[in-house]
Amino acid sequence: MHTKLQVMKFGGTSVGDAACIRRSAQIVANASREYSVVVVVSAMSGVTNRLIDAAHQAKRGDREAGKTLGDALRKQHFEALAALVPDEHARLRVECRIEELLAEGTRLYEGTALLRELTLRTLDAISSLGERLCAPVFAAALSAMGVAGVAIEATELIVTDSFHGGADPQAEPTRQRSQQRIGPLLQHGQIPVVTGFIGATSDGLLTTLGRGGSDYSATILGAALDAAEIIIWTDVEGVLTADPRLVAEARTIPEISYREAAELAYFGARVLHPKTLRPVMPAGIPVWIRNSFAPDKPGTKITQQGRSIGGGVKALTAIRDVALISIGGPGIVGVPDVVGRTFSTTAQLRAEVLLISQSSSQNDICFIVAKAHSQTTLDALRREFAQDLAHQVVDHITMDPNIAIVAVVGENMRGTPGVAGRTFHCLGNEGVNIIAIAQGSSETNISFVVSDQSVKAALLATHREFDLGVSRQFGTMQGTFTVPGGFDKTSPEILDAFEGKSDLEKS
Ligand code: ASP
Ligand code: MG
Repeated sequence: MHTKLQVMKFGGTSVGDAACIRRSAQIVANASREYSVVVVVSAMSGVTNRLIDAAHQAKRGDREAGKTLGDALRKQHFEALAALVPDEHARLRVECRIEELLAEGTRLYEGTALLRELTLRTLDAISSLGERLCAPVFAAALSAMGVAGVAIEATELIVTDSFHGGADPQAEPTRQRSQQRIGPLLQHGQIPVVTGFIGATSDGLLTTLGRGGSDYSATILGAALDAAEIIIWTDVEGVLTADPRLVAEARTIPEISYREAAELAYFGARVLHPKTLRPVMPAGIPVWIRNSFAPDKPGTKITQQGRSIGGGVKALTAIRDVALISIGGPGIVGVPDVVGRTFSTTAQLRAEVLLISQSSSQNDICFIVAKAHSQTTLDALRREFAQDLAHQVVDHITMDPNIAIVAVVGENMRGTPGVAGRTFHCLGNEGVNIIAIAQGSSETNISFVVSDQSVKAALLATHREFDLGVSRQFGTMQGTFTVPGGFDKTSPEILDAFEGKSDLEKS
């Protein structure tokens, strides 16, 4: 057993087929010469989506969907296994386990089709199967390479509340169970391969941590096991300065702070599940984002401090598929509860509000929600304010779906005067019209709303203004160093990561 522990998470595309699993297992085998390693795996890419789709078909009474998918999953996992594990006995053991899991799946699908009912609890049980199928295959691939992999289900380790579909972990019991179960394995030089995405309530009911949750699993376990570092192996080379489809000069950021990374995750650069960094913040455990397809590249390191750069701006991100709702009129000045009623309406609908802006004259409140929620939000507000509209206290409630949010993110913007000035000046020069602006008091981002057609121009102008694309100097304790070169701009994986669909559509 080595003194330092690395927790390594491999996302769906990094375990997408036998060749990917072999590449990832090789990364683990190499690291295990220097570190104790705990592996966390996602489902093979696409599997979770297929499991969930079939569950909805079963709910509509389709009795075949589950069976058809079960057959496809058997084939997919057996094929990977055959390519990775030459030893027949070892293979047979995993095949038996796969059959057990598929049988469990069949029962769940049959029950769903029979009752035509799909509870969140059942959906969790169904959607967990991808990770549970993948872990034994990955563990066997490691063993075939001469490093002893042991598949472990995270239901034994991660204790959560009972909020199915997005459960929250409980740190203390998780710590106890993880150390008890994982400690002895590490002592024997074994490599636990843990299912990402899932946990269990204290009385043993399986839960999931929410879509894309295996990043979160990795940091939960990293914190519980006092890991030295956590590496999220994915299919992009880390966190980029901007969406490379829109900004050709975008490049990988070498180091970024927890807050900046969380801010970017929230604002649509979906490299990480938004909750991922929470568990590691108190202990300050660094998290790396690296590319399992290019393991020689350094990736992005996420730390407490980040690394300060000149102007304080680290990255830009844009959220599209959103709509701006505004509510206002001169009459609302006198109505003290307009803000309260507006946001209790969105809260009732569980519509996440991405940005809020209110002018001090209170003539107008505007906010942004995902397009998926925009029409229901608009309708609900018109109902809520029906009386006020009738009496012209509120004179309009409108929606503009052709907008986007652009966020300029960087922790060191705080206390750096002029970032906002430079941002809006350069946008002015490009003729980009700004519809609304918000800057939180945390000052880690300035977000503004522009028309959807001007997103690209806005990103290009700000990227250039803050020199994000050129090789530049980063201050360090010892002196300075220069950021290494960019990345392969044509890589489809990198592009995918910025489509906002990345993880989920590939999962
Ligand atoms: N397989 C799960 C999902 O697709 C978890 C993950 O991949 O992070 O959401
Ligand atoms: Mg993911």
